[in-house]
This record gives sequence, structure tokens and C-alpha cells, in this order.
Amino acid sequence: MAYRFCPQCGRPLAEREESGRVRLACPDPACGFIYYDNPLPVVAAIVEHEGNVILVRSKGWPEKLFGLVTGFLERDESPEEGVLRELREELNLEGEIVSFVGVYPFTPRNQVVIAYHIRATGKIALGEELEACKAIPPEKLRPWPMGTGLAVRDWLKARV
Ligand SMILES: [Zn+2]
Repeated sequence: MAYRFCPQCGRPLAEREESGRVRLACPDPACGFIYYDNPLPVVAAIVEHEGNVILVRSKGWPEKLFGLVTGFLERDESPEEGVLRELREELNLEGEIVSFVGVYPFTPRNQVVIAYHIRATGKIALGEELEACKAIPPEKLRPWPMGTGLAVRDWLKARV
């Protein structure tokens, strides 16, 4: 989402150079708002459950598109707490973090993905944001070339 008006004083934002980039900024020097548009962190889970990796499809996604369990952090929540909460909300599973996989840019959505390998137990029940899930043996998992797919790629590489 991009701002068109200053969220502090309501004036229309205008482009100007700030810290080496052209940015939208409030024209009123007394206000001083600058829209930096920094990437937002997203936590992601490579969920291992009964020997398989669980991929999920959110409501509204194309039929064949599946991805990792992901979500935004709540205020005061650590990435580790956030990713385990998302696992509970999306799949109704309890998990423990096996390892930190890495941090990856996802520029199309201006996000940074923080990825963990999680071992999960329990019986899967889809949360209200999800349309479907599937269980894939790790050896059949094929990483996709951006965002969370890069975490899958690195995780698979480290397994062998
Ligand atoms: Zn302003």
C-alpha cells in the first residue's frame, strides 16, 4: 500500500530526494513526515509433520499455488513466537523450532521473509485463512525461485 496523503497532517505527499532516493514526503517542514516504504518482515515455516512438509493454499489463490505457512508479526512478538502462533492458527498444530533457515527478500510485496524449520505435531485442521493444504515428502519438494522458495531451496540443500 502506498500513501498519497500525509498520515500525520493530511497534506498531499510530494516526491523529493531524501537519503539518496526519491521518496514521497510531506511538503510541510513543520510536519516532516517521510514515507520510507521499508520492507515488512514476514515469518515463514517449513513445517515438517509426520515425515512430510506441509504446504498451504490461502483463500483466493490459484488452484495449483501452494506455499509455506507465513504471517505477519504482532506487536511485542518475537519471530519465533510469531511463526509458532501462525502454525497454530493456520494448521492447528503445535510446533517446535528445529532451526533458523535464513532471511530472504520478497521484493514484489516489499517484504523480508524470516524462515524457520519447524517440527509439528497434532491433527491438521485448516484455519479460516486457508483453502487447502498438502503433505509432500521432502524428496519430492521442488523449491520455487523467489521469497519462501529460497528458504525451501536452502533447507533442502542442507538436508543432504
Ligand atoms: Zn505532514
